[in-house]
Parts: sequence; structure tokens; C-alpha cells
Amino acid sequence: MPTNPATVPRSTAHLRWPVEPAQGGWYTEAEHEAVRQVLAESDDWRTGWKSATTTDVFEDAFAAYTGAAHAVAFNSGGTALEMVMRYLQLTPGDEVVSCAINFVGPHLAVIGQGGNLILAEPDPLTLNLDPVDTERVLTARTRAILITHWNGAAVDLRPFLALAERHPHPVHGPPPVIVDAARCCGGRTPTGRVVGSEGWATIFSFESKKLMTTFGQGGMVTTSDQSLADRLRTLRTYGGLDRWGTNQMMTKAQAAVGLVQLARLDEMNAARIDRAHHRTRRLARVAELTLPPTRHGRKHLYYRHNLLVPASWTGDGRDKLMNLLAERHGVGSIVSDPVTYLGHRLIRHHTTGQRCPRAEQLAARLLCPCLHPRMTPEDETAICDAIQQATAHIARTYGTGE
Ligand SMILES: *Cc1c(COP(=O)(O)O)cnc(C)c1O
Repeated sequence: MPTNPATVPRSTAHLRWPVEPAQGGWYTEAEHEAVRQVLAESDDWRTGWKSATTTDVFEDAFAAYTGAAHAVAFNSGGTALEMVMRYLQLTPGDEVVSCAINFVGPHLAVIGQGGNLILAEPDPLTLNLDPVDTERVLTARTRAILITHWNGAAVDLRPFLALAERHPHPVHGPPPVIVDAARCCGGRTPTGRVVGSEGWATIFSFESKKLMTTFGQGGMVTTSDQSLADRLRTLRTYGGLDRWGTNQMMTKAQAAVGLVQLARLDEMNAARIDRAHHRTRRLARVAELTLPPTRHGRKHLYYRHNLLVPASWTGDGRDKLMNLLAERHGVGSIVSDPVTYLGHRLIRHHTTGQRCPRAEQLAARLLCPCLHPRMTPEDETAICDAIQQATAHIARTYGTGE
């Protein structure tokens, strides 16, 4: 089996454009003001940092934005995922299907809650879970389908909802569709709905790199299932009066800044989409590269700008391109992300015997050069020139892939 292909450029310390830029560096005077207010009002021994009211307001605003009935805030996207999974009360043998190209978080949440992680292949262009391959792995033990809106490209959930209806679990009924939208906050799905309003539960992250941020950590679940929302609220506050729970609350300061970020989300995403569309147009003449799909409207947020090198460059050629971009041009890029079972030993151990050859191939052709909504036109031009020159250089050794 190949080893971990999460190759990033060898030297990353002095890059002009970082490997993983952080959205968290984009706060305005309004965020600063919100924090000053929370700090002032919490400096009171009678109330302190009690977060309930501010968090309620943030949750209501978030639910209204997405169109879901409920939003429940957490201290991270990871705990939010884990608690949604926990609600299913998985028993040994229960299976959860997820795309092999993924962040490790969703896969660890399945394993952490005692489920069998079942891997399926991605769509070759969007890298989102492929419904055809999903049907291949559905069984009578499937308890959930876990879908990640990969790097900002919103999945059409309709084929998955139909699959769930066609393959009901004998006890629990159609497996719920759980959506990981950590990289797609503010996105629109192909049906025109706001991400968070479709599927059974949707998880968001407000960690430092994400599309909106709450001081570097934070998460949210949206759902229209009252029973799930109620249970999530007790899970994060020591179980109410009768059940297990722990403390996974978001702080008041995070909620206050989240409210401001939410109001700015569309504007921040629009700036990112603008840069991404410009890059796609500029790179259209680079025949070797497969560019991310451009769809009309706002159905792709470009959390990352995925590039695929030709199949004949797989692995080595891709790695050389990333290193050349870094060393000669100062452009950081990342493989976002490798196939989880190749990159993470516990996941590999847990999925022994499963392979997704298409995912392995695609991940070994993937690179995501730095993209950020605050980049200037000069940054963008320099990065596009660098990608073009570096690709031409690698093509001399590895061919143009035709
Ligand atoms: C960031 C991320 C998460 C986890 O969010 P945290 O808030 O960092 O715990 C889950 N899934 C995906 C796809 C992510 O990118």
C-alpha cells in the first residue's frame, strides 16, 4: 500500500503565500467592538461570562440564515460531529458511509462512536462523495450517510436522500444524511437552498481557517429535528438532569464575534469566489491542469482551489510541482486532503481490507495552491504566473499528459 501522500513543499517557513492561509485574520472594527462590549459587560461578579443569552442570539441568527429550524453551538466542529454521531447510539456492526478523500475529523467521529467506517469513492471532478459508488457499499447495517461538501463545492443531496429511501435499515429506517459543511458555510446547494437546511443534520466549523471564524475555534449543528436539537443541547451541558453529557459550550465572546462574522459571511465568501473565478479564468490556458468546476451562482465557495495534474504525473510529478512552486516562486500549496486511510494510522487499521483506488489516484494528482479573499490582484497575478511557469517546467520531464 502506498504511504502517506500528504506531501507539502519541503520548505514552507519563508513562503510569500502560506500553505494554509487563515481566514481568521480578517476581522473588522465591528468584531473588535463586539469583543470590547462582551468584555465590559462580563466584568461583573454577579453575572461573569455566563454565555447563554449571547449564544442563543447567535444560534437563532444562524438558524435563520440557513433556514433550518434549530442551530446548536459547540466549542468545535469536531465535537459537533461527534455528538451528532453519538445521538445515533451505534452498536457493534453498524456502518456509516463516507467519502475516502476527506478530513480525518468526520472519520474519527464515526470510529469514536463505535461505528464501522465504510469508504466510498469521490466524484472525479468535485471530489465529493459519488452516489453511484455509495450505492455499491450500502447494506442492511448502514446507519448513516456522512457527506462532506468538499472544499466548498456543495453536493446535490437529492440522489443520496433517494438512496437512503431505497435502502432502509430494518430497525431504524432510511439512514439519515449527515452533512459536514465545515468548508461550505454560506454555500448554496444545487437546489438553491442554503447549506444547513437540507439533510438530517449539518455540521459547521468556525476554526481559524474556515469561512467564518470565532476566535480560532467553534462549531455549530443545524437541524430541523427537534429531538436531535434537544439532545445536542443536553449533551453539551452535562446531560440535563438525567442523561450523560459534558461541557462543550461555545464561549460568550465567540458567540458575540460569530454574530458579526455571520453578518459579513456573504461578503467574505463573495470576495473568495471572485479570486477563485479569476484564477480559473487565468489558468484555463494551462492545458495540463484540470481546474475546479465553475458553476453558475454561488454553488462553489472555493474553500480551496483544487487543481489536478495529469494522470502521468501522479505522485512524483505533483510533488515536484508543489516543491517548485514553493522554492522558486514562494507559493505554498497543500494536498487537501489525502485519502484518510493512507494518512492516518488508526483509520487505516479500522478500514483494513477496504481500498478506494479512484480516491487514491485523484489524491495523488491533487494540489491546492494558496487562495485567500484578502489577496490583492497583484498576489493573484503572481500566483497564476507561478503556477503556469512551474507547470510548464514539470511538463518538460513528465509530458503534457496527452
Ligand atoms: C475543519 C473541519 C472539521 C472540524 O472542525 P474543527 O472545528 O476544526 O473541529 C470537520 N470537517 C471538515 C471537512 C473540516 O474541514
